[in-house]
Order: sequence, then C-alpha cells, then structure tokens
Amino acid sequence: MELEYIRLVKETEIFKNCKNIVIGKGNEKAEIMFIGEAPGRNEDEQGLPFVGAAGKNLDNLLAKVGLSLNDVYIANILKCRPPENRNPLPEEIKAHTPWLIEQIKQIKPKVICSLGNYSTKFFLSDGKIDEMDKMPGITQIHGKIKMIEFHGLKIKLIPLFHPAAIIYNRSLIDSWEKDMEIVKAEIKQKTLF
Ligand code: URA
Repeated sequence: MELEYIRLVKETEIFKNCKNIVIGKGNEKAEIMFIGEAPGRNEDEQGLPFVGAAGKNLDNLLAKVGLSLNDVYIANILKCRPPENRNPLPEEIKAHTPWLIEQIKQIKPKVICSLGNYSTKFFLSDGKIDEMDKMPGITQIHGKIKMIEFHGLKIKLIPLFHPAAIIYNRSLIDSWEKDMEIVKAEIKQKTLF
C-alpha cells in the first residue's frame, strides 16, 4: 500500500527537483501530531521535517510545553519541497495527502496541531482540497480548539501559527506563546492520556 502513496508523490512535478521524500519524525505511537506545510531546503537535504530555522522555533515551542520528539509525531501536508518554497498547489496536496491520511490512521492521534494556513485549512475542510479556500485563515482561528472527525477519528484540532511566520514577524511571538498555553492545558488533561 505504501508503494501506492510513493507513486502518487513521485508523479508530481515537484518531486523531480527533490533530494528526499520527507515522511515524518517522532514517535509513531504519539497522541499528538504536528502537521506543517512542506519541506524546505534543509528538510529536503536531510530527509526530515522541521530541521531548519522553523524547526528551531518548533523545538522551542515543544520544549516550552514540556514535550520532546518522543511525545509527538511531526509531518507535513506535502512530502517533498516545492521550488523556492512556494505555496503548495491543490493537485500537489491531492497527490501527497493520501499518505499523510494513512499516517494519521496508523498513529491515531488525539490532538493535531496544524501549523499555518494550509495545514489548518486541510483539516478544517475534512481533507476536501477544493473546499480549503472557503475555510477561515490562521489569523482568525489560531488557538481555537475544534473537535473534528477525520476519517473516523475524533481529533482535537489546535490551529497554530506556522513556526516560520515567527521568523519574519516577531510580533507573533506573544500570540504564539499564548496558544502554547492552550496546547499545554490540553495535554495536561488526564482524559487525553
Ligand atoms: N516548514 C514546514 O512547513 N515544514 C517543514 O518541514 C519545514 C518548514
């Protein structure tokens, strides 16, 4: 089955310029997943998500709420890097997310922290890519918990600003830290574990 997911990814144009397919990192038994947008240059080179500047921010975020890579699984909407880190195209999201959906079904997380607009809209639209545009943006709904039913799984979605956004917009740090308190409160709830 995994071969089918790999085939779909390889069929997309962006794959031709990629060094690696970036599948994910962390604990496959984790109850929390963080889902970003797409690999950047460093991620493409190392074959791992969030290892560059945005990754440093994400590491800090995790440390702040007392989480390590052993407590979470981190992946992206796209499995390989779009040229110049441009936004993912709908057909790329269509081709790359069946693999992500399968990962989610295997891991069965209780919480998904969606990082940035694309990831958030993907989950809010229940994976219906043609409807992503109609979903509210991250500025509007960051930090607001939403119960979703995703492929038969009941999941708490916590939309967060993308960790890369903080690199360019330091004023987001405050909002980001407040949102982290929400994540912290959620993961402390006994009912989660
Ligand atoms: N940005 C993302 O969305 N994902 C990564 O893996 C790295 C940067």
